Amino acid sequence: MENHGAGSLKLEDQIKFTKLFINGEFVDSVSGKTFKTYDPRTGEAIADVAEGDAADVDLAVKAAREAFDHGRWPRITAHERGRLMNKFADLVEQHADELAVLDSLDAGKLLSSGKAIDLPHCIHILRYYAGAADKIHGETLKLGGEYQGYTLLEPIGVVGHIIPWNFPSTMFFLKVSPALAAGCTMVIKPAEQTPLSALYYAHLAKQAGIPDGVINVVNGFGATAGATLSSHMNVDKISFTGSTETGRKVMEAAAKSNLKTVSLELGGKSPLIIFDDADVDMAVALARVATFFNKAEICVAGSRVYVQEGIYDEFVEKAAEAAKSWKTGDPFDPTVQQGPQIDKSQFEKVLRYVELGKQEGATLVTGGKACGEKGFYIEPTIFTDVKVKPCMATQRPTFMYLFLPSTLASDAFHLQEDMKIFQDEIFGPVMSLMKFKTIEEVIDKANSTKYGLAAGVVTKDLNIANRISRSVRAGTIWINCYFAFDPGCPFGGFKMSGFGRDLGMHAVEKYMQVKSVVTPLYSSPW
Ligand code: NAD
Repeated sequence: MENHGAGSLKLEDQIKFTKLFINGEFVDSVSGKTFKTYDPRTGEAIADVAEGDAADVDLAVKAAREAFDHGRWPRITAHERGRLMNKFADLVEQHADELAVLDSLDAGKLLSSGKAIDLPHCIHILRYYAGAADKIHGETLKLGGEYQGYTLLEPIGVVGHIIPWNFPSTMFFLKVSPALAAGCTMVIKPAEQTPLSALYYAHLAKQAGIPDGVINVVNGFGATAGATLSSHMNVDKISFTGSTETGRKVMEAAAKSNLKTVSLELGGKSPLIIFDDADVDMAVALARVATFFNKAEICVAGSRVYVQEGIYDEFVEKAAEAAKSWKTGDPFDPTVQQGPQIDKSQFEKVLRYVELGKQEGATLVTGGKACGEKGFYIEPTIFTDVKVKPCMATQRPTFMYLFLPSTLASDAFHLQEDMKIFQDEIFGPVMSLMKFKTIEEVIDKANSTKYGLAAGVVTKDLNIANRISRSVRAGTIWINCYFAFDPGCPFGGFKMSGFGRDLGMHAVEKYMQVKSVVTPLYSSPW
């Protein structure tokens, strides 16, 4: 295994924790089973990790329940919770380089981005919520009659966090930090593809003095460990990030068990809208990052690119050049911009979409092939001539439109179908370009998706930017920028991209219950 830029240690030596973390201890799974985690650069196994299933989730929930019902964490002062969280952040900071290596090894993420973006962002998130811990409070209520009242914001209880593989560290802290600030205890189920860094974080939390049972990590598979957590009668809330398909299962499991509250951060197919007045070079640079960053394994990838007709041809030419110069290779090499896809199944799925794009009649401008001698590398790919298929006339009987309300009948794009590569979340380095004429047309097109996670607009015209940001139905709108995340900026989806918000103070609300306390103003009437 090569060791670009990872210091003098052999990469495998950085894998220190491979068991489950339950009630403050690293333990084997009850069944004794393990599963392998793989290096996406080679497809070779790098570690055997304890495989948790229903029995282990039970133990972890029991530990979290005990820590919540009888332990210190929800009862210590909020100031003290914040202090311990800051100590945790200090330790993450001290070990940031090792943690970035673990995510690169496990997920094929660029080490340079891990060090410069992911880990600093994680530390920032943890400190933001450490600072928030003692600023969470209820309100005084103006009640009628001879009563006064106030609300208490109380921690919701035991939380199950189920997270994906594309940002193993960021996902961990997005979920864990606000829940810690709220005073909750928790069980984290990392994605089976990327089990390593979460275990390291659990170890650091213990070192920081966060009491046993507050943070438990159960690695394992979705259908076993994840499903048990979602349907567990002693879990009060599930905070899920992953695909829309799995989100639906999690919600069903919650409904069929104890009606635990659920928040879902799901898939996306975000539009990036570029107007004629944009600086074309800047727009190309932005679109390249919006689509290909993190090998496009990012829920907010701006891969559905609309370019206004006046600059379309120039944009296509320059975007193709930009994609060709986007360097794919070993994520430990600091000059590389795109590492391998996470695993074989994701790699094959992306290549299947490239074939589908060709079959549907889109023009492959650049890329479209696997690259590298081994591992799961794919060339940055661009399609043009991506079209709205005229399904209105052919696939739907005309009489349907006669009976539709006029608002819907005139809204033809909601009733037409884009090519699949323009509709589906590919989660791989494929940019699809579509030409548009007017702002009205592009708003309709941008909204013609089941998703609503994010959108970008590139223009110098404030009126256009404002109109787009008010009209596109998505949880985040980036104007003349993309991926501008901040711990203080709420993040989440509209439509089938989910509900509930990570980040910002809205995220704390997910982990709290509102309790009303009412008392007579003067003497009791009873
Ligand atoms: P996934 O839905 O397959 O898996 C996500 C997690 O759910 C994993 O931990 C998995 O083990 C678990 N899981 C699988 N089946 C389960 C079940 N039946 N019950 C409970 N848990 C189960 O998603 P993925 O492939 O890991 O991640 C990619 C998806 O995540 C993409 O759709 C992407 O858009 C989405 N994502 C969304 C956001 C966001 O903030 N909206 C962020 C990152 C990724």
